[in-house]
Amino acid sequence: MSTATLTIDLNAITANWAALDRMTECETAAVVKADAYGLGVAKVGQALAKAGARLFFVAVAEEGIALRRALGAGPAICVFSGHMAGDADMIRSANLTPMINSVDQLLMHVESLPGHPFGLQLDTGMNRLGMEPAEWAAVRDIAIAQRPELIISHLACADEPDHLMNQLQLNSFNEMTEGLDIPRSLAATGGILLGPDYHMDLTRPGVGLYGGLPFVDATPVIALDVPVVQVRDVAPGESVGYGNAFVAKSATRVATVSAGYADGLIRAMGGGATLTHEGRKLPVIGRVSMDLITVDVSTISQVPEHLQLIGQHQSVDTVAGFAGTIGYEILTSLGARYDRVYLT
Ligand SMILES: *Cc1c(COP(=O)(O)O)cnc(C)c1O
Repeated sequence: MSTATLTIDLNAITANWAALDRMTECETAAVVKADAYGLGVAKVGQALAKAGARLFFVAVAEEGIALRRALGAGPAICVFSGHMAGDADMIRSANLTPMINSVDQLLMHVESLPGHPFGLQLDTGMNRLGMEPAEWAAVRDIAIAQRPELIISHLACADEPDHLMNQLQLNSFNEMTEGLDIPRSLAATGGILLGPDYHMDLTRPGVGLYGGLPFVDATPVIALDVPVVQVRDVAPGESVGYGNAFVAKSATRVATVSAGYADGLIRAMGGGATLTHEGRKLPVIGRVSMDLITVDVSTISQVPEHLQLIGQHQSVDTVAGFAGTIGYEILTSLGARYDRVYLT
């Protein structure tokens, strides 16, 4: 078999959820949008529900349908994008809770599904989703009369604890929700680490569950082991790969491993990237191809069957650094071709 193996440790995910839960006095939800950050929403959702998560967030109603199928009745499933035209049947049949983002969405929701649970999202400065202060002031009384289950807002700079924006958004959210007796939520993973002022009634961690920054103490969740398809010796002056991007200065042993940019190992991950074998770092040479990567294995005497890209020795965020991106993008790009093994 030459497909790479993606090992997903469900116990690490539930341990991360429990660790983030212990950092607050309030309830902890689980964000499982984008197929649980690429790791498989059915398996991840079921594991988290078993571990005690009672509230889940997805991005769009279609993801909510898939999650409801996996979880059955019981846990609340909230939809960040709110109630869009054409969503009413999905929201009703899967009992989803849309986070209403605008007056238009509010009208659509109460007209198409009167009495159906919903939440509200307020914009406190990120200017991405949610009602702005002026809009909110105009509809606040009408919206509250419909008894929302939850009011949320989202922080733009929570991964930078000293950023002034955090305090500004906190103040804005407190002002916009003053005097309301409705559960409130402001913190994702980064917000949990900002401290108790940000915790309120419910936190919404995503990336921290999957072992990513800014949760530095996270338990690693995934390992990606890539089979070696072929090994060859390259003489000084010979080149390797597309565009002759690597030219050997000295005799070099090259292993060709079976994964590439079609598997989410983005092409930008060129110079400086490494794979590992028993903790030893082995440089990627030449360009990342669609299905293959070439690795300098001159420093190991016996080339193993697999080299590791992500695991105990190199985190998702380390690999993201090779490509000039963030762990979130590496996780959500993990390809469909991997042999996925779930540790339970
Ligand atoms: C994605 C998202 C989260 C989770 O964020 P992480 O940084 O992954 O913890 C929480 N709330 C909203 C509104 C989101 O879009």
